[in-house]
Amino acid sequence: MNADFIIVGQGIAGTVLAHRLEEYKQRVVVISHPSLSASSAVAAGIWNPIVFKRLTKSWMADEILPELHAFYGSCGHKLHQNFLSERAIIKPFTEVQEATLWQKKSAEGNQYLDGKIYSDFDLSEKDHATRYSKVLEAGNLHMQEFLERSREYFISGESYLEDNFEFESLSTTPDGVSYKHIRARYIVFCEGHLVRKNPFFGFIPMKPAKGEVLTIHCKGIRLEKDIFNKNLFIMPLGNDLYKVGATYAWDKLNDFPTDEGKEELLAKLQQILTIPFEIIHHQAGVRPSVIDRRPVLGKHASNERVAIFNGLGTKGVMLAPYFSGILTEHLIHGQPVPAEVDINRFFDAV
Ligand SMILES: Cc1cc2nc3c(=O)[nH]c(=O)nc-3n(C[C@H](O)[C@H](O)[C@H](O)COP(=O)(O)OP(=O)(O)OC[C@H]3O[C@@H](n4cnc5c(N)ncnc54)[C@H](O)[C@@H]3O)c2cc1C
Repeated sequence: MNADFIIVGQGIAGTVLAHRLEEYKQRVVVISHPSLSASSAVAAGIWNPIVFKRLTKSWMADEILPELHAFYGSCGHKLHQNFLSERAIIKPFTEVQEATLWQKKSAEGNQYLDGKIYSDFDLSEKDHATRYSKVLEAGNLHMQEFLERSREYFISGESYLEDNFEFESLSTTPDGVSYKHIRARYIVFCEGHLVRKNPFFGFIPMKPAKGEVLTIHCKGIRLEKDIFNKNLFIMPLGNDLYKVGATYAWDKLNDFPTDEGKEELLAKLQQILTIPFEIIHHQAGVRPSVIDRRPVLGKHASNERVAIFNGLGTKGVMLAPYFSGILTEHLIHGQPVPAEVDINRFFDAV
């Protein structure tokens, strides 16, 4: 089988890159195995253009958001399904100063902060009314549907191989790569936090963060579409189901949910929600964060047939469309990768 690109990993990074390369008329084969750890499989898919701690825009939000809409919108056409839900994020205030700061930042030109302060939102009939405002232009990608429809699409185009990638079966020459029966011009690794086992890129200083989420069933939460955020997020899924998360931990880096994770989420949830609910699912994953909290992309310094797309950390949904475009332009047209996200920042340090 001949291809232009082999992509290893069908999380959000590999999936978005595969669709992006197809836009450039490239023949792609995606290799992935569902039994392996995948952060994308548990992510809520939320994009949020605000850093709550400082009420500033999240990194490159103005450049990245248009690309997010254009890219997932065009995937929606291609796969005949809408994968995006635009939602506001309701941010309740506990102190008067918070509302004052929010209004100040909004007046200074942060268009993602609604300038209005609302009163009287209660999460359920038993919970206290609170003042709040909204983050605008937020939402979520229906991550699991997007990954699943994409996988079906790759399978139907004979562009998908279910395989646990074995490095001993890879060979590279100055002109290309071969893996088992597949020959290609390039291979791009999109393995999420499992990159730590990759012999080409295992040296990248990762700081993976385990995260846990719950899906709860609850009648009486007063959220139809918007996401509620107070120490944790509550996102309505329909049919009285809500996704609730997430935790952060830097040890036990595996996909097994823990009692500690569940207790932490329940403690936070019970502070804001006093009506009964039932836990339906409890899931965990490992976010592939790099120590400098920036994506990592580009070719290997000593083997230009081997490339990487990783480091999407906590924001895979927002970052993947924009940076898959940067990587594609680099691999196909030789355009430079911005230094801040270039893999070379780590080769230079070796
Ligand atoms: C609890 C939680 C909630 C989150 N919520 C959000 C959110 O709301 N919004 C958001 O933007 N981000 C969120 N994230 C972060 C998001 O999940 C990541 O940014 C994103 O999923 C990273 O995608 P990835 O493709 O790089 O890695 P992954 O999703 O981990 O995908 C890597 C893929 O590579 C495959 N793979 C690895 N090694 C091999 C091999 N040797 N052979 C074959 N296949 C291999 C794996 O099977 C996997 O499919 C959340 C993360 C967690 C844990």
